[in-house]
Amino acid sequence: MIANYGFKDGSGDWYVTIDTDKCNGCGKCPEVCPANILEVGPDEMDIFREEPVAFVKHEERKKVRYSCAPCKPGYGEEPPPCSKVCDLKAFSFSEGWKKLYQGPGRLVWGVRKNLVTREEELKKEGWEKRFTMDEPRLSEMAEQYKELGFEVLLEPVNTSSEECTTCLKDPAFSHRYKTIYTRQRG
Ligand code: SF4
Ligand code: SF4
Repeated sequence: MIANYGFKDGSGDWYVTIDTDKCNGCGKCPEVCPANILEVGPDEMDIFREEPVAFVKHEERKKVRYSCAPCKPGYGEEPPPCSKVCDLKAFSFSEGWKKLYQGPGRLVWGVRKNLVTREEELKKEGWEKRFTMDEPRLSEMAEQYKELGFEVLLEPVNTSSEECTTCLKDPAFSHRYKTIYTRQRG
């Protein structure tokens, strides 16, 4: 069975897909996932299946766009750690990350020229940069802005424009941080 975990919005399709017919529940992928969003357990889509299967944790499914972005699904030089470790090739990804980050003039991680371009592009589109923070406060603030009537965009952090980058450059923490942009609706 093809199990899609994620969501679709105006900015694209954001799905981690696991082919449960291929997965043998070996447990390797949760061990290498830097965002800790994977788990192996009972198959929620096939109650008769006895073997465990890999899935994206329930509470993480609405956040995969941001959680998976540092792994560069579909556009990095290397496959994401989950794909790389899975001998049975059970993982695939929708095209949201590839389209957003690989197109001309779009964000390319670590290339300052394009990062600046991305910030300028957002400003032209009416987005106002608010601040950079990590989970769980990140999601809480995003919800508060939405309740106040703003559109909310969470972007990968441009470390070249942040005052303190100690946590942002530490691989153990960096995937948790995003920059919040807001825009008045309409
Ligand atoms: S590494 Fe592949 S086979 Fe092993 S649990 Fe993860 S998806 Fe399943
Ligand atoms: S792309 Fe990265 S964050 Fe997303 S499931 Fe795979 S290893 Fe985890």
